[in-house]
Amino acid sequence: MSTYTIEPPGVVALPVAGTGAMFPVRRVYCIGRNYAAHAVEMGHDPDREAPFFFQKNADNLDISGEFPYPPESSDVHHEIEMAVMLKSGGSNIALEHALDHVYGYALSLDMTRRDLQGEQKKMGRPWEIGKAFERSAPVGIIHTVDDIGHPDQGRVELKINGEVRQEGDLNQMIWKVPEMISYLSVYFTLAAGDVILSGTPAGVGPVSKGDSMRVSIEGLGSMEIPVV
Ligand code: MN
Repeated sequence: MSTYTIEPPGVVALPVAGTGAMFPVRRVYCIGRNYAAHAVEMGHDPDREAPFFFQKNADNLDISGEFPYPPESSDVHHEIEMAVMLKSGGSNIALEHALDHVYGYALSLDMTRRDLQGEQKKMGRPWEIGKAFERSAPVGIIHTVDDIGHPDQGRVELKINGEVRQEGDLNQMIWKVPEMISYLSVYFTLAAGDVILSGTPAGVGPVSKGDSMRVSIEGLGSMEIPVV
């Protein structure tokens, strides 16, 4: 057996409701503009055009229960999203089989350095600096399909300091979960451990240190994430 030249990086793993076992993460895909009202607020056409994806890193997922305000930005935005965890994958997955690959679902946030993302957009450059920073995706406990089925409707809400800022319904997704899985699998080989952040409803906006974000999705409970 070969040895490593340096200490191998640890596996990112997320807690699962009702079990002591953890879900190990491989990749994180995020869809852009998947709720019409959010596409409009970002200055885009809400029509159904081909979906687009970007990625975060597995170790950007954060279960600490708090969000540290990141460096080099003065406009960090909240985006509440439902995370989809895969237990298997493949290529060219048919729409009708897509949900068979889902292990469970969780609350998550796609925190965004909007000022840096905006500069990158203007220059036609990649988004990582705005999206894939340390601890940029707070995530909640995973609820398994065995426990909750496949949520495809239900209220999505984010409050800052008790005031509603984002609200929508899972049924407003332009590209539904099976469609996202099927589409991604044409371009990538999906696999067990992959996570998909499914987009955010309207109302994104800035957070400040000292704020507290309360995120909830019907069927997935809620979590309180202070900005520190
Ligand atoms: Mn997002």
